[in-house]
Amino acid sequence: MSWEDNVRRVIPYVPGEQPKIDKIIKLNTNENPYPPAPGVLKALEELKEGYDNLRKYPAPACDALEEALSEYYNLPREQLFTGVGSDDVLSMAFLAFFKGEKPVLFPDITYSFYDVWAEVYGIPYKTVPLNENFEINGEDYDIPNGGIVIANPNAPTGIAKSKEWMEQFITRHRDVVVIVDEAYVDFGGESCISLIDKYENLLVTQTFSKSRSLAGLRIGMAFGSKKIIRYLKDVKFSVNSYTMNTPSLVLGSASLKDDEYFREKVSAVIKTREWTKDELKKLGFIMTESKTNFLFASHPERKAEEIMNKLREQGIIVRHFKKPRIDNYLRISIGTDEEMQEMVRVLRTFL
Ligand code: PMP
Repeated sequence: MSWEDNVRRVIPYVPGEQPKIDKIIKLNTNENPYPPAPGVLKALEELKEGYDNLRKYPAPACDALEEALSEYYNLPREQLFTGVGSDDVLSMAFLAFFKGEKPVLFPDITYSFYDVWAEVYGIPYKTVPLNENFEINGEDYDIPNGGIVIANPNAPTGIAKSKEWMEQFITRHRDVVVIVDEAYVDFGGESCISLIDKYENLLVTQTFSKSRSLAGLRIGMAFGSKKIIRYLKDVKFSVNSYTMNTPSLVLGSASLKDDEYFREKVSAVIKTREWTKDELKKLGFIMTESKTNFLFASHPERKAEEIMNKLREQGIIVRHFKKPRIDNYLRISIGTDEEMQEMVRVLRTFL
């Protein structure tokens, strides 16, 4: 017998690299290339004046942020949950809602944290293959299950399902919790938030990390029926009361007050995505129909890994997943116009 026999051994999720060099074009972790809303900077200055407040614990119920979210989404606070990035929110949701013996279902190609949470919490799970076009076939989920997780739009494929399709899907799974991960929805997807009053078992998660340019603050949220949110909060308060720090609560609420800026920057990213897509097509790339802030691209004549390495030599970093079915694809986050022009220029020189 060794102490190591009782260790919970897991293979952790590996996030995209955060290189320490300054002069790179970083297109590997789907961050927003634009700064957060100017109101966030103003709130940051006010935080400086109130720095003595940092002596105190933050508001455990995340008051400032939840009140701002409640106003923004026109939902009562009892239908909102906040956490340290949507990773924290999703992890809590896995812990809270998946304790049955039947497997939790999610696509074989999707956010690669889902299976890691299932493993660490000992949740049985089964991956359901996407079709050859990386689309979800809804009927494949009509099998005994203990819950379902769908990223919509999906990552890293970028493909979105309509709200109508999602609703059809949810109606077939009323007896388990269905989580819809909408990390990228603001870039062209259709949200399922308006369905939460109709389907008590639906939980929708979103994040400030992409469309609100605040990945560094770690803010994520969930929307659901009062009942499902109550269950989620009970589990969260059984793990850690003070998850969100004071600066994140204050700065996150400030970001919600600047809607015009938000819309302007989201549109800018979408416009750049479409431009980049056209340019990559001219270079022979094939791509999915992305509704996110990244493109999922493959070149019929060059290995994805080779392209990634060539870009890297020129200081441009993109993401490659060494996984079955997608190892000849690159996930390219959308940067500024200048960054994407530079990437296209480099690609043109060697393709
Ligand atoms: N869901 C998906 C599909 C993602 O790609 C990410 C980003 N890695 C997240 C959730 C988590 O993002 P965050 O914790 O920054 O909110």
